[in-house]
Amino acid sequence: MSSTKTIGIIGGGQLGQMMAISAIYMGHKVITLDPASDCPSSRVSEVIAAPYDDVDALRQLSDRCDVLTYEFENVDADGLDAVIKDGQLPQGTELLRISQNRIFEKDFLSNKAQVTVAPYKVVTSSLDLEDIDLSKNYVLKTATGGYDGHGQKVITSAEDLEEANALANSAECVLEEFVNFDLEISVIVSGNGKDVTVFPVQENIHRNNILSKTIVPARISDRLADRAKAIAVKISEQLNLSGTLCVEMFATADDIIVNEIAPRPHNSGHYSIEACDFSQFDTHILGVLGAPLPAINLHEPAVMLNVLGQHVEAAERYVTENPSAHLHMYGKLEAKHNRKMGHVTLFSNEPDNVVEFGKGIDF
Ligand code: AMP
Repeated sequence: MSSTKTIGIIGGGQLGQMMAISAIYMGHKVITLDPASDCPSSRVSEVIAAPYDDVDALRQLSDRCDVLTYEFENVDADGLDAVIKDGQLPQGTELLRISQNRIFEKDFLSNKAQVTVAPYKVVTSSLDLEDIDLSKNYVLKTATGGYDGHGQKVITSAEDLEEANALANSAECVLEEFVNFDLEISVIVSGNGKDVTVFPVQENIHRNNILSKTIVPARISDRLADRAKAIAVKISEQLNLSGTLCVEMFATADDIIVNEIAPRPHNSGHYSIEACDFSQFDTHILGVLGAPLPAINLHEPAVMLNVLGQHVEAAERYVTENPSAHLHMYGKLEAKHNRKMGHVTLFSNEPDNVVEFGKGIDF
């Protein structure tokens, strides 16, 4: 049997594109399903241009591919279940359902994987907010559809309740206690259905709720870093993980608290393309193909900076002045404000001296 496979990727944004690049240099062929025929993946793969919930298009992808994967979690799980053949989607649709809904996700993390999450309760209407103890702070998050801070309300006093009540009456929510974290961190882990391999702990700095800078290794103690990696492995074992998963966490002075999981390569893992001997995309492809997974080594401490629409010129200038920095551009046609257009990775032992493109300029 040929070891060359045809891999179908649902979603042709930058994550799909970088997955496809990894797959292609391993000798595989890629077909992408994306609503836009000129999506970033169109640079490197054939595209079936159709909406994600178009069952005929999903069926066509399934018929033409050996293995299917996705680049984002809001894929129509029922549509996929209707067309996929046995074993064709190694990541499964269960993981999709868990990560699409914060109520399922919290239940999975705290009760099944048994990792520490912020104390929380499910909120089905504003009635559930009536008796909350306002000596504490909270974040109210819609169960579905929220991203990059959308669909969230921080509650620090009674004045926040009006907006919080409106949010709670508009959709099912999760009310979490506010975590006074020192750092936001994440861990990338990849599985092949049997074994897992884990990446170094990443430290993440957000601006306007969008990832701006990732520093690797994260500046936390070895003890906390080992704990964070062990948590990511525990979650992936509970899932019989295939492919790459990102676990986002908060590091406090002496503990690690899991915030959420993303069942795919993640922006905070992009540094691994140059800074590790295998990238999160390489291990994603190896994992969904059920191939053996390598141990991951970090060559040197690294920093990744996101390039948003308003930063493109600054990033291009930056790499002409710092030619050892690696510029990635995703080939998006329109540089909209806050749209992720590319990223830069560089090696540095002094991450504080690596200045984000937006700092002091746009934010
Ligand atoms: P999320 O959509 O869950 O990733 O949340 C977006 C951002 O809000 C996170 O990156 C944190 O900066 C912040 N955040 C979310 N949940 C909490 C929490 N329970 N405590 C403190 N900050 C939070």
